[in-house]
Amino acid sequence: MKIANFFLVVNHGELTLIDVGSKDEIENIRRKFDEAGHSLDQLKRIIPTHCHPDHIGSLAALKQATGAQVLAHEAEAPFITQEARLPRARGAAWLLHALTEPLFRPEPCPVDQTLKHGDTIEGTGLTVIHMPGHSPGSICLYHREARALFTGDALINMFGKMGGPFPPFCWETQRARRSLSRLKELDVETLYFSHGETIREGANEKIRSLVEFMNKEG
Ligand SMILES: [Zn+2]
Ligand SMILES: [Zn+2]
Repeated sequence: MKIANFFLVVNHGELTLIDVGSKDEIENIRRKFDEAGHSLDQLKRIIPTHCHPDHIGSLAALKQATGAQVLAHEAEAPFITQEARLPRARGAAWLLHALTEPLFRPEPCPVDQTLKHGDTIEGTGLTVIHMPGHSPGSICLYHREARALFTGDALINMFGKMGGPFPPFCWETQRARRSLSRLKELDVETLYFSHGETIREGANEKIRSLVEFMNKEG
């Protein structure tokens, strides 16, 4: 299973973690906190971008260890608490999913607060951009002041180019592509990907040309 990036956002001294990576990631997270001069106990909240196991594998354990609040989009929360099962991806990899999903299934985790498109999350400077398609409640998180976008899996930067989510892992690929036009409205300098290298230059241009390309493809 590929490992996704996670991000620590420090906003006026308040610590927020975006995603937590796969199972058994806590020691790695603790080390990263140490390196950044923070302690894990200071963690105030965790915002999963969506419910896939490479993003929330350690969520329940980390919440338990730190007492951090968990905030998730309202359409994604039931899959994180596991009151509902995520509809199976419709892409070609469904058989792989069916076979491996039980192996990687994260522990259920309570959600303390649900989020909606356009919400600004107190103490973080982050705004929620709902990006349905990769999963029903996938989100990007936008930090206006820093002109930074945390893409989750709505946008990836793999194999040498930026693009929409990888179709085999999408709930509804066409919808995921349509959601990308929401990003055109934002002024972005830095793109932080869950999968792929950070882009620090020309982000607005890259987003615009991707959206145009997706629209042409239909
Ligand atoms: Zn995903
Ligand atoms: Zn992922």
